[in-house]
Amino acid sequence: MRFKRLFTPGPTQVRPEILKELATPQIHHRSPEFSELYAAIQPKLQQVLYTRNPVLLFTSSSTGAMEAGVTNLVARRCLNLVNGAFSHRWHEITKGNGIPCDEFAIPWDKAIKPSMVDEQLATGKYDAVTLVFNETSTGTMNPLEAIAEVVRQHRDVFLLVDAVSGMAGAKIDTDAWGIDYVLAGVQKAFALPPGLAVAAVSERALERAKTVPPRSYYFNLPDMYKFHQKNQTPATPAIPHLFALNAQLTDMLAEGMDKRFERHATMAGIVQAWAKKHFDIYPEEGYWSQTLTCVKNTQSIDASAMVKTLASGYNARIENGYGDLKGKTFRIAHMGDLQVDEIQGLLRALDDILGF
Ligand SMILES: *Cc1c(COP(=O)(O)O)cnc(C)c1O
Repeated sequence: MRFKRLFTPGPTQVRPEILKELATPQIHHRSPEFSELYAAIQPKLQQVLYTRNPVLLFTSSSTGAMEAGVTNLVARRCLNLVNGAFSHRWHEITKGNGIPCDEFAIPWDKAIKPSMVDEQLATGKYDAVTLVFNETSTGTMNPLEAIAEVVRQHRDVFLLVDAVSGMAGAKIDTDAWGIDYVLAGVQKAFALPPGLAVAAVSERALERAKTVPPRSYYFNLPDMYKFHQKNQTPATPAIPHLFALNAQLTDMLAEGMDKRFERHATMAGIVQAWAKKHFDIYPEEGYWSQTLTCVKNTQSIDASAMVKTLASGYNARIENGYGDLKGKTFRIAHMGDLQVDEIQGLLRALDDILGF
């Protein structure tokens, strides 16, 4: 099969050297070699997530870590902030697990504002709030730092953040912002194959999790933390992924996180300028994502046909709009290990296809 360049908001392109790590001869998950691997990964993850909190590893996609957040950390009632498909999914997960919750939904082309959160939390009904940092369905980056500041003023309310398509592509200052739980799957801006998720869990979150009746056997944070202290996981983890993660984290830190974020910002600027020139950008200005751009199809081009032509003629893939936004928007990801020249090449191919 030919190597196809992925400009999709997950899974993203994985470098061949990282793919090779997956083929490392297997080790046993109760062996000292495994604990060494786990222990090597931990401080690197903490650097990428700007935290001293433990970063737990989930052998699941991101959705599993979303489920772990609400099943372990809501003692009373959860507020689900919704402005897109993934934030709505988190509400469905919360509800589906029988956890008392309310959805606070706004139009999908708008960002969640700190004042909205403040107003909701002022009711005193909630002890946890879920937020999607980077709504992959709409290309909206919610103002996490400012929202976190508001949540901190409501002392007993825990902030749970889905940073799936943002983490490692935009800075999340986990400890400084007081985030209790922040998760991501590694198939987005980490540029690894799918199947593994990570989450940093605050001390007070781990404390509360002990008092919440267990709602899940597999996604039990106190249990995961118990094994974490021995540099292990409760069940057999995706060991091949951990080799790849370890190598990728080393490379990320060698690039430098600030440089990595700058590269994402540069690529975002290039794609946004292209989108503004020929189309428009779906979310409101000021909240455009640093890791993907959701282009508003103001020219009513056939987005499915464009995606197909790009795949067959140029061996690259972008993504149509998500759900109801299919056709009305299309999405170009600029995350992970993609480089500026690759983004420029993609836009030239799109210009070719569209006759610009
Ligand atoms: C991709 C994505 C998810 C779902 O991730 P899976 O790994 O497929 O479970 C959830 N939230 C956001 C913001 C995403 O981008």
